[in-house]
Order: sequence, then C-alpha cells, then structure tokens
Amino acid sequence: MPGLDEKLQDIYAEVLQRNPGEAEFHQAVREVLDSLGPVVAKHPQYVDAAVIRRLCEPERQIIFRVPWVDDAGTVQINRGFRVEFNSALGPYKGGLRFHPSVYLGIVKFLGFEQIFKNSLTGMPIGGGKGGSDFDPKGRSDAEVMRFCQSFMTELYRHIGEHTDVPAGDIGVGGREIGYLFGQYKRITNRYESGVLTGKGLSWGGSQVRPEATGYGTVFFTEQILDRRGDSFEGKRVVISGSGNVAIHAVEKVHQLGGTVVACSDSSGYIVDDKGIDLELLKEIKYERRGRIHEYPELSGSTAYFVDSGSIWEVPCDIALPCATQNELNGADARVLVENGCRIVAEGANMPCTPEATRLFAEAGVTFAPGKAANAGGVATSALEMQQNASRDSWSFEHTEQRLESIMRGIHDRCLETAEEYGTPGDYVAGANIAGFTQVADAMLALGIV
Ligand code: NDP
Repeated sequence: MPGLDEKLQDIYAEVLQRNPGEAEFHQAVREVLDSLGPVVAKHPQYVDAAVIRRLCEPERQIIFRVPWVDDAGTVQINRGFRVEFNSALGPYKGGLRFHPSVYLGIVKFLGFEQIFKNSLTGMPIGGGKGGSDFDPKGRSDAEVMRFCQSFMTELYRHIGEHTDVPAGDIGVGGREIGYLFGQYKRITNRYESGVLTGKGLSWGGSQVRPEATGYGTVFFTEQILDRRGDSFEGKRVVISGSGNVAIHAVEKVHQLGGTVVACSDSSGYIVDDKGIDLELLKEIKYERRGRIHEYPELSGSTAYFVDSGSIWEVPCDIALPCATQNELNGADARVLVENGCRIVAEGANMPCTPEATRLFAEAGVTFAPGKAANAGGVATSALEMQQNASRDSWSFEHTEQRLESIMRGIHDRCLETAEEYGTPGDYVAGANIAGFTQVADAMLALGIV
C-alpha cells in the first residue's frame, strides 16, 4: 500500500476485507487515512484505543424495503438505507439521496465523509447518510409522494431531533422533505421540526438553507483567492451539475463578479461565454423540471449544448465540480491544468478521483476537498436545528452572515492544521486532520462505546 503510513495499513486492509465491493467507501476511507500518518506519529493513542478502526465501522446500518404503487397501479419495490455512522459529537446528521445508483457502498462513503465534514463545522452534529435507489426522474408528484410516505413509514422509528436528523441530497429537495416530514408528523403525532432539515420556510425551515451548499463553496473559494490578494472579479468559472448546489454556486459567483461559462447535467453540458443566465437556468430546473439541453434554444443566445466529451474541456480559471462522485478524473484534471485552471473546489462529495487530486497537487493547482468546501449545507442545517430548538427564525442577511463566517472559520482551521502538521497550504491534509482529531478526542473521552 504505497504512500500509506505503516501503522494504518492493517486498518485499511481490514476495511477492504470487511466491506467487499464497496469501492466508493474504500476510496473515502483511503483518502482520510492518507492524511493521518503525522497524526498517529504524534498521538499513538488514536491507534492504541482503536479509534480509527472504530471510526471505520458504522454505529448502525439500516436497510429496508420500500414498497409503493405507481400511477399505473403497479407495485414497485425499492431499497432504503440509513447508515448512522458516528454520534460522538452529536445526533447523526446527513442527507438522503434518491438516485438509481444508490447502494450501501455509496451511502457508507457519504456517511463516512459526513463525520469529518460535520466535525469541521465546529457544530454539535455527528455523521450519517441515507437514501434509496428510487429514481424520481420522470415520476409524477403523486408517485414521489407515495414513495416518500412509504420510505418514512420505516425510517421514522430510527430518527428524531436528538437521534438522527436527515436532510436532502441528490434527488431530495424541498418537495421530498415536505412529503417526508408530513408522513413523520402523521405517524408520530408530533410536530417535531428538528427531525429533518431543508424544510420550507413556512413550516420550520431556515433562510439560506437551499442556497447554503453552493454559496458556502463559493465563500470558501473566495477565502482562497483573498489569501493571495485576489477575488472572483473577472474570473471564468466552470461549474458541473445544475441541481441545488450548482445553481446556487452560479448565483454567488455572479454576485461576486465572476462569470460562470458552463454547467451540466448527466446528459451533457452547455457553454454560454456571456455568462449563464441564472433566471433561465432556475426556470428550466425548478419550474419545468427540464433538462439542460433546453437552455440554448430558450436563451436565444450563442450558447450551445454538448452531449459528448467533458465539461472540464471548457477553459476556466476556477473549476467547481458540483454534480456527483468521481465526475472529474485524471484526464479531466490534465486538461484543466493545461488550460490554466488555478483553483478547484469541490461542491459535490468526492467528485475528483484520487488521480485527479494527485495531478492538481503536482501542478500546484489549489484543491479544496468537499468535506471542507461544501460544509456550508450541513452547517446551515445545524443553524436550522438551532432555530427550531429556540422556536425562532432569523433573517436571510443574518443567516448568510453566519454561513460566511462559518466557511471562513473552516478555511482558516484547514490552513492552520495543515501548517501545524507540516504540510502548509494542503487543504486536504488540513481538512482531514482537523475533522478527525475533534471526533477522535470526543471518542476517547466517551470510552469504548
Ligand atoms: P441535485 O439532485 O439537486 O443535483 C444533482 C446534479 O448533478 C444534477 O444536475 C444531476 O444531473 C447531476 N448528476 C447527478 N448524478 C450524476 C451523474 N451520475 N453524472 C452526471 N451528472 C450527475 O443534487 P445536489 O445539487 O443537492 O447535490 C450535488 C452534489 O453535492 C452531490 O455530490 C451531493 O452529495 C453534494 N452535496 C449536496 C448538499 C446539499 O445541501 N444538497 C450538501 C453537500 C454536498 P441529472 O439531473 O441529469 O441527474
């Protein structure tokens, strides 16, 4: 296992052996372990008390059947998951993903990442994740509602404001959270706002929660630029995806003076050199529930759609991958480097492959990993929980200021920790080590549980 500290090799071998076939989970664990060599050298107690081995084993994994009836009257069966990974810092917290690619390995990779991300926010939240292989695409509202109701009919017994607090992720937005919350309320006969985050504003939601992940990624990138006396002004930016995270990243880049020239969905990408028309993008995605290829015709501009190749071929100064895991590989990284891209910040979870991140490091491209750069979403979920607990609701401006200051704090913690452990400027090491040590210390304090 080249590159991996000797003390950590057995731990990683055990993860591979105990979790066969879960490639994304292996990748996420390896990425964290790769940073922990200097930590275990300084603090052998983390290995001695099996803290790292315990961290790699979820506290609880729930897999359940989700039967529902489609509009044609046919019975459909999906599989539901909730992996409650680590609660040393607070109740499990992490989103639900509805996408046909979902299986245990994806949920575990996301849950594992979530532990460190949530720790980095400095807020009292543990790590978890869930979802289903249900595909909401092309389903009617009524079908999505029946699916969500069936999903919650099992999930409700495992969650609660002090136990486990799910939110959205790919395929789960305000509509789905509404149906899930409605069913939870109906079954439990409790208006327990703190059980889910990402709620609508009129029923316990927080300002800025829909925007938070995208805005947060851009605030984090702004900090990187700021450290070199630079800003978004005049920068060409490429953002993959056109969902919740991508749309709000586009919005914030434009507010800060940058120009987003390309975005995508799973069928291809669009290029608009004048800058993506955000209102049109929102109309296509939210109102029409349409596809990105509709953009050029509706915009009537010189924008064009490309249905093959990679969005990363579009030259840019800054790249923000905001779609899905492993969407930016070594070949993409090479093209970005050749085209002069200087900063890559992950809005999605683990969108860059290990080869891509290695190439960025070699080429001196600043790389911000998702567990730091996209932590604004879960941080604002924690702000939503705070508002629910105090039956309060804050203004947009106040909540956005809190988000911005949280992102600045995460940025600074990453840099300070990287410096402390002898890898100055390395955001990956900084994020992994800072996230890890806080959880590890809590686990040591709580005993063998
Ligand atoms: P959405 O469902 O709103 O949007 C996902 C976007 O990514 C869509 O444009 C979708 O295209 C595209 N996409 C999904 N799967 C693929 C694929 N296999 N290949 C190419 N494109 C794909 O999800 P979010 O915006 O909420 O999430 C995006 C990423 O951000 C995920 O990695 C998620 O885990 C992460 N994230 C989200 C947070 C949140 O608050 N929502 C918080 C932190 C991280 P199409 O419609 O064609 O499928």
